[in-house]
Amino acid sequence: MSFKNKIKVTTPIVEMDGDEMTRIMWRMVKEKLLLPYLDMQLDYYDLHVKHRDETDDQVTVAAAEAIKKYRVGVKCATITPNAERVQEYQLKTAWKSPNGTIRGILDGTVFRKPIITKNIRPVVSAWKKPIIIGRHAYGDMYSNVEMQIAGAGTAELVYTPAGGGAELRKVIHEFREPGIIQGIHNTDASIESFARACFTFALDQQVDLWFSTKDTISKTYDAHFRDIFTREFEHNWQEKYHAAGLTYFFTLIDDAVARIMKHEGGILWALKNYDGDVMSDMVASASGSLAMMTSVLVSPQGYFEYEAAHGTVQKHYYRHQAGERTSTNSMALIFAWTGGLRKRGELDQTPAVAHFADTLEDAAIGTVESGIMTGDLLTVAEASAGNRKVDTEAFIDAIAANLHNKLSWNK
Ligand code: NAP
Ligand code: MG
Repeated sequence: MSFKNKIKVTTPIVEMDGDEMTRIMWRMVKEKLLLPYLDMQLDYYDLHVKHRDETDDQVTVAAAEAIKKYRVGVKCATITPNAERVQEYQLKTAWKSPNGTIRGILDGTVFRKPIITKNIRPVVSAWKKPIIIGRHAYGDMYSNVEMQIAGAGTAELVYTPAGGGAELRKVIHEFREPGIIQGIHNTDASIESFARACFTFALDQQVDLWFSTKDTISKTYDAHFRDIFTREFEHNWQEKYHAAGLTYFFTLIDDAVARIMKHEGGILWALKNYDGDVMSDMVASASGSLAMMTSVLVSPQGYFEYEAAHGTVQKHYYRHQAGERTSTNSMALIFAWTGGLRKRGELDQTPAVAHFADTLEDAAIGTVESGIMTGDLLTVAEASAGNRKVDTEAFIDAIAANLHNKLSWNK
């Protein structure tokens, strides 16, 4: 099925292909939902784990550089190799997480927002509105250095000033036995841009901003995040928030976790890198399914990278390879593309492209609301005689049919 007058996307989009089940769905989404309607140029990077291995992971760096050039990228889920994966794919080494590498190059904040449909109620009954997670995407554990300690000895933190001057040293631990250590870092510039991105995003979405760390325990590292947020708020946002009837609220991470379970939602919850990784999966799963969570990396320079928040759905892929039909949900992958296309349309001032993105999202949501859904949603959707579990491809086909109807004026 193809349209004569395809919608022109004027600037190339950086496409990053991925692994396993999401790679299979990625291709279906492109072929059935995008290419029939769009005349677009894709700057393609294959982040399949084998190709990352062949290029010594330089393909990941090249993809990040391309996002700097074109400003908008769309990424499929990718394997972050561990020891098992190194064996499975016969890799040279356990390459770093591509997301970590890309975020390290682009800096920025990841915003994750659940896709809401009328027939899927969050597991947490108090949640009436989306909880958006703003995850700092630089530093901390994701660019750590860590070490196994073989036996007795002293582990220290050492800072050597570049311009000379006295070294700073602190003892981490006097080991009497084998153990482990880890060094992490962050920069003021990155935390400041994280804070600015969150204050901007919350105001834009007209929601309150929460921020939480463990500054009672981490009196320098986490406290520094808190101080920078407070300073940023007081200097640049207080009046705007007051005028908009919005609040900025800081609380300890464990208090925030307890409160969020009883809150109605409709807030942006800003979190450090690891906290955001963990909490966004919790919010996604409690909102219905991991596959109903969108994710965008917003860099301080105005680069945007859209992806699904979930992984490569490895278990489904093994079943797919064994010849079984899976019922894997492509919603978040579709929304990665629509997010990228809408942003492309906005930057290029091509409203038809943004409109296509809206229409595709409507078609996808409409499909789920009509009762046609994948297995992950069937268990959480409101019971209805019309509900029907379909397989991976049939779900995309149903969305394609819906989209085709909505766009048929264009034939
Ligand atoms: P996962 O791929 O997110 O899947 C975990 C489970 O969540 C699945 O087994 C499935 O549950 C459910 N699920 C996730 N996405 C789904 C979808 N689209 N449709 C239906 N169900 C879905 O996490 P993982 O299995 O821990 O990780 C697999 C690989 O992904 C790993 O190699 C990891 O490194 C990588 N990963 C990549 C990213 C990324 O690129 N952004 C993020 C996370 C993980 P059931 O099995 O119960 O059906
Ligand atoms: Mg995660």
